[in-house]
Amino acid sequence: MNIQAVEIVRDHNTAGRDVGCRLCGSRLRHTLVDLGMSPPCESILKADQIDQMELYYPLNVMVCDTCLLVQLKEYVSAETIFSEYAYFSSFSTSWVAHAKAYCEAITKRLGLGEESLAVELASNDGYLLQHFLPLGVPVIGVEPAANVARAAEEKGVLTRVDFFGVRLANQMVTEELKADLIIGNNVLAQVPDLNDFVAGMKILLKPEGVVTLEFPHIERLMAENQFDTIYHEHYSYFSLLTVDLMAARHGLRVIDVEELPTHGGSLRVYLAHEGSSRATEDSVTELLDREKRHGLMDMSTYASFGLKAKRAKRDLLAFLIAAKNEGKKICGYGAPGKGNTLLNYCAIGTDFLDFTVDRNPYKHGRYTPGMHIPIKPVQAIDEAKPDYILILPWNLKDEIVQQMHHVAGWGAKFVVPIPFVTVIDPSELRK
Ligand SMILES: [Zn+2]
Repeated sequence: MNIQAVEIVRDHNTAGRDVGCRLCGSRLRHTLVDLGMSPPCESILKADQIDQMELYYPLNVMVCDTCLLVQLKEYVSAETIFSEYAYFSSFSTSWVAHAKAYCEAITKRLGLGEESLAVELASNDGYLLQHFLPLGVPVIGVEPAANVARAAEEKGVLTRVDFFGVRLANQMVTEELKADLIIGNNVLAQVPDLNDFVAGMKILLKPEGVVTLEFPHIERLMAENQFDTIYHEHYSYFSLLTVDLMAARHGLRVIDVEELPTHGGSLRVYLAHEGSSRATEDSVTELLDREKRHGLMDMSTYASFGLKAKRAKRDLLAFLIAAKNEGKKICGYGAPGKGNTLLNYCAIGTDFLDFTVDRNPYKHGRYTPGMHIPIKPVQAIDEAKPDYILILPWNLKDEIVQQMHHVAGWGAKFVVPIPFVTVIDPSELRK
């Protein structure tokens, strides 16, 4: 991620707070949650930057009462986020394994072969498309960050350094490139112009082709109080109800949906052309019905989420204040994007956490945005011997507690902030 200054996006046809929905254009009138002002979560600071002015933007999340898209205004431009992206998907072994299983399953399901073409949008370093190569399926990746695209080319994954939309789709069609499969994993949230993106997919897709999209499910985000997964780089949050409407706007049809455990609970949605011969599976109506039963068409459901986030903030602060009043020493574990939303929203600085640690050496010696908590190597925990370790990437809590089990030696306990404050005593767990 680009840690240099983040440019302000000039008003996107909006005047003041009277903002139109990114998908359907309706006026946005309902707030999901207002997390206050926060710096972009990936702008980790170097030592010489912490006494300089920092850019803060509102984290005020709205929900559209027409198409139900949950959304944040594009304060931080996609060009800034993606031109030099520091996140290489291949660093995560579990994510690469997830990608491999997907490639094998979809090749079989769609009967892909050497005459086919699979295109991935935001293909990163080729972590996914590389698995089609041994299966004999030709691939093209589209990736705006040149540095990660180079890593993909080194794996033998043909990659175009560009942003995807109608313009690029038309250009590819004139080159006689049309896709049997279009893949978009965790990209939808970061697309500023959703309609241009989906219209591009419609153009690039062969008549009987299939699109698969994976994204965190707003139903899980709300049910499990994952307000910290909201940050400026994520512009949109989806239910199947919204994706169904979005597909229909562009002559596409949702033909299947699966629930995945990734990123706190995701959906994998399969789309085809409206007139495709592919049948719509029962899974689609079942999940649409469930979302309706869970109140996702009702604005009061969204409003109640904001109250839950406030409650979680009070509970976490109450815990930390009590611990500090007892003279306890506390540090953090991890410096992920979600950690920065949580720390800034709750205003947890070095008055509570002496430091945090991270396994990524790039972050060592730097400071978290806004709250300026020093980021150290993991071994710093062994030297400081804190009483409590606040786990910021809570989705990895089982892995972290297992890896750091030895802290039980000096009586340390783990604290997990989401969905509600939970203390884990590692001495009570089996090794
Ligand atoms: Zn809308």
